[in-house]
Amino acid sequence: MEEKMSTGIPEEYGTMVFNDKVMRERLPKDVYKAIRKSVKSGSHLELDVANTVAAVMKEWAMEHGATHFTHWFQPMTGLTAEKHDSFISPTSDGTVLMEFSGKELVKGEPDASSFPSGGLRATFEARGYTAWDPSSPAFVKDGSLYIPTAFCSYGGESLDKKTPLLRSMEALSKEAVKVLKLLGREDVSHVDTTIGSEQEYFLIDKDMYLKRKDLLMCGRTLLGAPAPKGQEMEDHYFGVLKPKVSEFMHDLDHELWKLGVPAKTKHNEVAPSQHELAPVFETANVAVDHNQLTMEVMKKVADRHHYACLLHEKPFEGINGSGKHDNWSMVTDQGENLLDPGKKPGENTQFLVFLMAIIAAVDEYADLLRVSVASAGNDHRLGANEAPPAIISIFLGDELQAVLDALEAGKPFEAVAKEKFDMGAHVLPHITKDTTDRNRTSPFAFTGNKFEFRMPGSALSVADPNIVLNTAVAEELRRMYDKLKDVEADKLEEEVTKLLRSMLLDHKKVLFNGNGYTDEWIEEAEKRGLYNLKSLPQAMPRLVADKNKKLFTDHGIYTDAEVEARYEINLENYSKTIHIESLALQEMVRKDFTGSLVSYMKDLTEEALQKKSLLGDGASYEADVLKKLDAEAASIGTSLKKLTEDTAKAEAMEDELAKATSYYETILSDMDVLRASVDAAESLIPEKYLSYPTYGQLLFSLR
Ligand code: ADP
Ligand code: MG
Repeated sequence: MEEKMSTGIPEEYGTMVFNDKVMRERLPKDVYKAIRKSVKSGSHLELDVANTVAAVMKEWAMEHGATHFTHWFQPMTGLTAEKHDSFISPTSDGTVLMEFSGKELVKGEPDASSFPSGGLRATFEARGYTAWDPSSPAFVKDGSLYIPTAFCSYGGESLDKKTPLLRSMEALSKEAVKVLKLLGREDVSHVDTTIGSEQEYFLIDKDMYLKRKDLLMCGRTLLGAPAPKGQEMEDHYFGVLKPKVSEFMHDLDHELWKLGVPAKTKHNEVAPSQHELAPVFETANVAVDHNQLTMEVMKKVADRHHYACLLHEKPFEGINGSGKHDNWSMVTDQGENLLDPGKKPGENTQFLVFLMAIIAAVDEYADLLRVSVASAGNDHRLGANEAPPAIISIFLGDELQAVLDALEAGKPFEAVAKEKFDMGAHVLPHITKDTTDRNRTSPFAFTGNKFEFRMPGSALSVADPNIVLNTAVAEELRRMYDKLKDVEADKLEEEVTKLLRSMLLDHKKVLFNGNGYTDEWIEEAEKRGLYNLKSLPQAMPRLVADKNKKLFTDHGIYTDAEVEARYEINLENYSKTIHIESLALQEMVRKDFTGSLVSYMKDLTEEALQKKSLLGDGASYEADVLKKLDAEAASIGTSLKKLTEDTAKAEAMEDELAKATSYYETILSDMDVLRASVDAAESLIPEKYLSYPTYGQLLFSLR
């Protein structure tokens, strides 16, 4: 008899999630309907409905081992936060009941005073509140029921990343639906944004990790001579998975699947010890929550496998850093992907309208997109010769570019449509995908039926870029609608073509299909007037530029005060990060490296003296090394002093922008100078003298 193979995965998938299936099975019909309605329309839930949901949720959670519940939220640290309360409620006879009310489900009041608020909430007004987001499912993890929530100040200002993301999704839906209706699509009443965020990470041995203060405190190495081998052999990308790494990935997949995170693809990345996980795309809000969970579970599972998982954007000098590709599209409530080029010519107008809205949005709000991915860590990637440059441009691929060229040349729209149809029916989606895949240098690339924004760093909350993208596209759609809304039906096709053409002329400067890593492109981009914002302090003032504040306020994403708060927090975070890095580097050099250097120099000196007394002039090799080390030691002394003094000066600055600028311009370069001498010396010192593992050991020890 043939044995039936079972992976158990369909049974395992989502077992820890209070998902739609569980709700349908367990909730009374009317309550289930009320929840669905609330998710769809964002409408308020009545307290009796919330009470029923809470009771059912609690029963289900307890069956899955939960003793506690927590409102899970995403403060402006970019991380997640949680505070656990048990279900217990003591009674007068010394026993407990397990309770969970609708009120507790819907609203929490954590002490918010220690979360960054950028001045939105004075410390004396400690209260903030969390509000249940029923559009992202609750789940059980580590004995607690996790309830995804938004986080606001008592005055109602958003203190998190979920609220503005949800607002931006609404804004985009609203404008997209208006435009679709204009184009005759009466069937669509909602448009969702979809995200698939590919996550890169490094794995290193946990013992080695624990020996490096820089990794422990900063998540990246602050010194370390390059290993003899880097990524030049191109032998790691898509290479065979090492057995232990493969075990880790297997375990990770299963943990994620239980939590309903659709982990799909795993492979080795370009740099040694670097890997990637990509999920199947989901609704933006859920995808963001799931990416946060993915990062957290990666770290936890890594620990179990005796690894440390590094999510920093640039853990090692000289090899690639890690990013998080943000694959983004829009889908109607009819299930139609609006960025699918489509088969029927009638649909092409629609596709081109949305395509043009995106081109215009990315051109006009390139500065905001850049701001949305700025962090001290990601600055090491952008503009370096690996990840996309700091300049934002769009790659469309030859086929789509040809369609736009025809449009620009003023060929009648029918011709464009036909041309596209001829190719489009069978070839366009394919060819576009193939050619786009070959361009890995573009920060914003069309990849067949979605755009891929490649600038986000690996540690970033993927909410940030999507808030900007959704809002900017909503704005362009709104303007297009305003220009077209009074056009008579028989003129519409013609007017749309005219509008598309004029928008193309205005925004084609952002289109670039060449190699984004070359110096020529940097020059060319400057001529075109594109932004090249190399660092966070250079980029951040753009966040509070009038046009950008207006964008956010017009669409109800942020108030002016909420924008300014984020400006403050980002600058502060940046300075704090580099301040910690500077102190960590100083300490490693003073305490750890100097010890190694001195003891090796001492042994060398003894050896040289002994040889000399025995052999006369026989110690030239030792003397030579000694001289080199001595020269580096002198530079280390000078550079360390300068770094220490400059750091104190930067730290004393009051103005946040000036301070961050000083960290960027002075402290980072002081750190580089110091590091150069330390690394040069390290390369001469045998490993047994070093108190921490070298790059070679860190990067090539995985089995
Ligand atoms: P790559 O060549 O970058 O590996 P893939 O086709 O594997 O491209 O897709 C990468 C990511 O894009 C995956 O997470 C996938 O789910 C996501 N993706 C695919 N279609 C969409 C879409 N319509 N909207 C958002 N993300 C999508
Ligand atoms: Mg990709």
